[in-house]
Amino acid sequence: MGDIKKIAVFTSGGDSPGMNAAIRSVVRTCAYLKLECVGIYRGYQGMIEGDFKEMNARSVNNIINKGGTILKSARCKEFRTKQGRQLAYDQLKKEKVDAFVVIGGDGSFTGAMLFNKEFDFPVIGIPGTIDNDIFGTTFTLGYDTALNTVVEAIDKIRDTASSHNRLFFVEVMGRDVGHIALNSGVGAGAEEILIPEEDLGLERLLDSLKRSKKSGKSSSIVIVAEGDKTGKNVFELAEYVEEHLPIYDVRVSVLGHMQRGGSPSCYDRVLASRMGVKAVESLLDGKTNFMVGVKDNKLILTPIEKAVKGHTKIDSELIRVSDIMTT
Ligand code: ADP
Repeated sequence: MGDIKKIAVFTSGGDSPGMNAAIRSVVRTCAYLKLECVGIYRGYQGMIEGDFKEMNARSVNNIINKGGTILKSARCKEFRTKQGRQLAYDQLKKEKVDAFVVIGGDGSFTGAMLFNKEFDFPVIGIPGTIDNDIFGTTFTLGYDTALNTVVEAIDKIRDTASSHNRLFFVEVMGRDVGHIALNSGVGAGAEEILIPEEDLGLERLLDSLKRSKKSGKSSSIVIVAEGDKTGKNVFELAEYVEEHLPIYDVRVSVLGHMQRGGSPSCYDRVLASRMGVKAVESLLDGKTNFMVGVKDNKLILTPIEKAVKGHTKIDSELIRVSDIMTT
């Protein structure tokens, strides 16, 4: 599409480590290809309000290692309405923007897809979310960093757990998917991992903890994804186990938002750099309404509609590995 001369980039929805590295990549690819580039602050909200800033290669110095997003992120109700999107389109036209790259999750992509349909406006998505719950990519930006953050936190909890022979319930992010819980659980050697994708029942949990105690383990860690299917939250689970297995001294740790922050891992920085280049080059190639993803370490494009509607699957091989490791 030879008529793309100016590209906008913004971050939207929940933030994740690696977003800055992706912004940097989009901006520098534009500079390299002699395209104009504009950053939009606060996602769709800033688009509607015209909160734009011209970006050049030097605008993104020293951000590859920073968590969060220099362009800020926001949730914007107005963009969910046709009138809101019309205002956004008017602002983009006023700024002479020809296409945009949105870095975000499912919701942000749904907005981009509607926008593309309504105004025939070229859009490309880069998946930025720690949950890794987007169809069409093996890794989303921020997921690898979040896993490392969670494993580091659990290692620390393990130190205190084993000093006191304690059982810790550790809640990690994942309302709908258990990728963080399963992978960090295996990585940190958790005794049990409770994920939204499977409900093994409370009996199994008690049996497993009994076995663990009998076999002489000095500490136990149970990872609980926010959306686990036991019907109990992490505090209720801890109470339940304390009631049924008084041999255990039980504690709870909710990791919360620390999982979203921090300097991105090398993997996320490299992936973000690759995805940014691919996003800009794809737009110039006339591709629109796609999301950039990675599969078998190759970058691929998936129609945004598929990315939004599809579901990721939990890794059954890893569940098996986890079962074997807790012997
Ligand atoms: P994420 O992108 O992380 O999934 P959200 O679901 O909060 O985060 O979506 C981010 C923003 O994308 C919303 O605040 C809204 O502006 C826009 N958006 C989400 N869903 C829609 C939709 N169905 N129609 C239009 N815009 C949407």
